[in-house]
Amino acid sequence: MHIIEIYKSLQGESSFAGLPCVFVRLAGCNLRCAWCDSEYTFSGGRKMSEEEILAEVQHLSPNGGLVEITGGEPMLQERELIPFMHQLLALGRESRSELRSESRYQLLLETSGERPLELVPREVHKIVDVKCPGSGEHLRFRLENLATLTACDELKFVLASREDYEYARDFIRRHTLESKPAALILSPAFRKGATGSRSAENCLLDPRSLAEWMLDDNLNARLGLQIHKFIWEPQLKGV
Ligand code: SF4
Repeated sequence: MHIIEIYKSLQGESSFAGLPCVFVRLAGCNLRCAWCDSEYTFSGGRKMSEEEILAEVQHLSPNGGLVEITGGEPMLQERELIPFMHQLLALGRESRSELRSESRYQLLLETSGERPLELVPREVHKIVDVKCPGSGEHLRFRLENLATLTACDELKFVLASREDYEYARDFIRRHTLESKPAALILSPAFRKGATGSRSAENCLLDPRSLAEWMLDDNLNARLGLQIHKFIWEPQLKGV
């Protein structure tokens, strides 16, 4: 696979936010979201074998824990990625006993929702974006992916405006997602190229406004902040 970087940090988003996590960032993306903070992933990357990636993951987190596959859009390398995910999940099962058969690595997949997800192993926690109009890519979501979601998955809406919020709210209601098992996360987009202060002023949408709209609409969803951008300076990569 073509890999941009592998590093350990705190998980900044999703319902796993705040937990230590190894990030495996794959190269390449076929979308161009207006507020993308990962443009450095669009090309390049180092070709690494499955064994090299697994060795690096084990080196960074020898006792197991969270591993997130992210990008770019990781599912563009689906042919190699699906077997890799099976292999990572199987690590630790070699020594399983009758009492313990779960993988010692919990695997998260962050994806734009534009690629088919049917072949992703069920044990993987999918964090699937639904792009909103402010991204410029809101027509690219693959609706069939909704049927692949389970209680361990999450749908994430990154919002830059009131228009984006209404799009997300209406999408949730139209597809009756509040009564479905996957978690729903609404998150303010961060200003592209933000530098300096670690503050909500770098959000394109004020988290307070978003909180008030969600409460006004009785929306049964979680407000998510990218906490790594409040812990480290927003321009830092590899955190
Ligand atoms: S899908 Fe992700 S990596 Fe690709 S352009 Fe959008 S935000 Fe950037």
